[in-house]
Amino acid sequence: MTPADCGRLAVVGLGPGDPRYLTPEADTALAAAAALYGYGPYLDRVPARAGQSRHPSDNREEGARAAAALRHAAQGTDVAVVSGGDPGVFAMAAAICEKMETGPESWRALDVVFIPGITAMLAVAARIGAPLGHDFCALSLSDNLKPWELVERRLDAAASAGFVIALYNPVSRARPWQFGNAIERLRGHLPPATPVIFGRAVGRSDEQVSVVTLDAAAATPADMSTLVIVGSRATRVIARPGRSPLVYTPRTAAEVSV
Ligand code: SAH
Repeated sequence: MTPADCGRLAVVGLGPGDPRYLTPEADTALAAAAALYGYGPYLDRVPARAGQSRHPSDNREEGARAAAALRHAAQGTDVAVVSGGDPGVFAMAAAICEKMETGPESWRALDVVFIPGITAMLAVAARIGAPLGHDFCALSLSDNLKPWELVERRLDAAASAGFVIALYNPVSRARPWQFGNAIERLRGHLPPATPVIFGRAVGRSDEQVSVVTLDAAAATPADMSTLVIVGSRATRVIARPGRSPLVYTPRTAAEVSV
C-alpha cells in the first residue's frame, strides 16, 4: 500500500458537550469518516450518518480502542476517533501516539490528523470570568496511570509556585477519597478563602457552576463530570448586584505570592 491509499485517522475533539462548541473542522472530519470509534457516551453525541460504522467502547479501554482504530485505518478506511473536549488533554490523542510508536510500521505511515476541541477547563473558566488569566496548570487526579504520590508532589509544586490549578477527573466510583485528599494538601499551601470553582457538565442541559472557598471545597460534591479550578493567592472574586460573581486572576504578578 502506498501512503496515498493507506487510510486516514482523524482524532477529533467534540468539545464539552454543547454542539455549538463543536468546531467546523471537527464536524467536517466526522462527516467524512467511514468508521467512528470512541467512548460510548461521546459517540452518542455524534449524529448518525448513513454508511458509517460505529464502534463504541468502554471508558477504560483507551489503549485497545486506539489499536482497533489504527488497525481499521491501516486497511484503507477513513476512521475518526472521538474524545470529549480536546483529544490532546487526558484523552485519545496520546493513546493513539503511544500505539503508533510501538505498533506496526504501517500505522506510522497513516495520514493522522489531530483536530482540537474546547477543553473542559476553558469552557468552565469562560462561564465564570477569567480564572486562568495568569499562569496555570492542569492535573488529572486519576491515579489509574500514575502513583498517587506523584499527584501529591505535583499539587505541592503547583500550589507553592503560585499556579492556578485545573483538576480533571476529580472523583470516580473507584476513586472516592483522592479529591478530599488533594484539597487537604492544597490547604497546606493556600489561604482558606482561596476561590474554588466547580463546573459540572458544562455545555450540557444539566450544567452547574458554583464558586466556594478552599475550606469548603472538600465537602462540595464533585463527580466524573466535574472540572475543578483552584485559584492561586492572586485569584479574586468580583461580587455583582443581581448577577453571579466573576472570578478572575489578574494578568500581572508583581511578586512571588506564595
Ligand atoms: N479530553 C477532555 C478531558 C478528559 S478527562 C477535555 O479536554 O475536556 C475527563 C474529565 O474532564 C472529567 O472527569 C471532568 O473533570 C472533565 N470534563 C469533561 N467534560 C466536562 C464538562 N462538560 N464539564 C465539566 N468537566 C468536564
